[in-house]
Amino acid sequence: MKKILFVTSEAHPLIKTGGLADVCGSLPKALAELSQDIRLIMPNYKALKTKGDVRFLCSLRIDNRDVNILETRMPDSDVIVWLVDCAEFFNYPGNPYTDEQGNAWPNNDERFALFCRVAVVCALDRINQDWKADIVHCNDWQTGLVPAILSLEDDRPATVFTIHNMAYQGLFPASHVASLNLPGQLWHLDGLEFNNMLSFIKGGLVYADRITTVSPTYALEIQTPEFGYGLEGLLTYRNDALVGIINGIDMDQWNPETDTYISKNFDIKTLAKKQINKADLQKKSALPENGQVPVVALISRLVEQKGIDMVIDCLPEMMTMPMQFVLLGAGDKDYEKRLQNLARLYPDKIALTLGYNEALAHTIEAGADIFLMPSRFEPCGLNQMYSQRYGTIPIVRKTGGLADTVIDAIPETIADGTATGVVFSEASAGTLIEAIKRAMLLYTNRDAWNKMQIDAMQKDFSWQRSAEQYLALYNSI
Ligand code: ADP
Repeated sequence: MKKILFVTSEAHPLIKTGGLADVCGSLPKALAELSQDIRLIMPNYKALKTKGDVRFLCSLRIDNRDVNILETRMPDSDVIVWLVDCAEFFNYPGNPYTDEQGNAWPNNDERFALFCRVAVVCALDRINQDWKADIVHCNDWQTGLVPAILSLEDDRPATVFTIHNMAYQGLFPASHVASLNLPGQLWHLDGLEFNNMLSFIKGGLVYADRITTVSPTYALEIQTPEFGYGLEGLLTYRNDALVGIINGIDMDQWNPETDTYISKNFDIKTLAKKQINKADLQKKSALPENGQVPVVALISRLVEQKGIDMVIDCLPEMMTMPMQFVLLGAGDKDYEKRLQNLARLYPDKIALTLGYNEALAHTIEAGADIFLMPSRFEPCGLNQMYSQRYGTIPIVRKTGGLADTVIDAIPETIADGTATGVVFSEASAGTLIEAIKRAMLLYTNRDAWNKMQIDAMQKDFSWQRSAEQYLALYNSI
């Protein structure tokens, strides 16, 4: 049994801005189920949705600041969570990283540097809890300084750093380095320095014993200039320490048989009941109730990564096809505006919900026929897996985790029962619209479509499989 300190800036259901939280909510539980002694550590944001007891564990003074460590549990689980409580840095409402306009909090470097220092102190049991970590598993740039600072310790735990998205690197002006009081040995070109900036993510990439990312294809992609953001050389150099492990999904939360958000539960034997969910979705979306036309859906942050511009370019042509389009998302204001304009033009074909809405996300997965995910890059992606579980056929671009989790419907894969979606390669509106047409055609063949839905619903996307791979990795260090 290993003692694992799992360091993260978000974990569902305590707080979530994206897929990182899904992973950090699920993987620790899956590792606990494999009998590992795992604890999470994360900042005590005001917006945190803790359930049950939160107790005071200890206090410490770090960088001239008073910090409390609080202890609670992951909701509906025994996994212990340590909360780094520093009111000045974390006790304000809203998003952990940005203000309401989406601008990064101006002191993010100080906030997460403090968080990293506290995680190091806890990992080494300098808080006297009789619990010293064997493995410290860090996630994304917010935790990147942990492997770096730990590398300077003699008797230290092994470190793992997981890249959930290379696009977010935690870059700050070099002039901030002094005020962060970081050990001087870390500040050089082969350390935390990157193009004369302080790079938090480099702390993980340079100093962690092992680097993981969230799909095998993304592990290869980030070693190329297109996806590496200038760090491809470093990642290629560390190739032996780098591995891709696909994320699982929470099979309980995203289970059409038991989902309490949806109108009618269903499984592969009662797939026809998906129609009831479709009618419910159409009703909630104020679209005409029509069981015949396919409902095409998209749930996403509205950012360039997700290929939203390509979808916007395709929409006028999509509107000439017999389909309805349901979109739930929030993000880039320009995309939001263009989508609003289109939704106004086609009120009985497009339903647009701007905002974040967990319940509606489930309603959409249950009721839609086709799910769009034309990402330019996608480290792993979750929605294409949720979709398959709900018999909603995904159209995805062949990149990262999308390439690893969706099998394109071509004659061979349809024949051998492995097809679960439509996959296209080039990131262009023209190629996307061809893929949509291909899906529309497949949809007209009801028997083949039903078979593909059932094959998709039976795929094993459980966390257990992924957690076993992480455990093997911990054991190999
Ligand atoms: P990313 O982490 O890049 O945003 P993922 O597909 O890995 O993309 O994970 C996104 C997660 O956030 C999924 O659980 C998805 O359902 C959810 N999500 C994204 N936007 C919304 C929204 N507007 N409302 C509800 N859930 C959303």
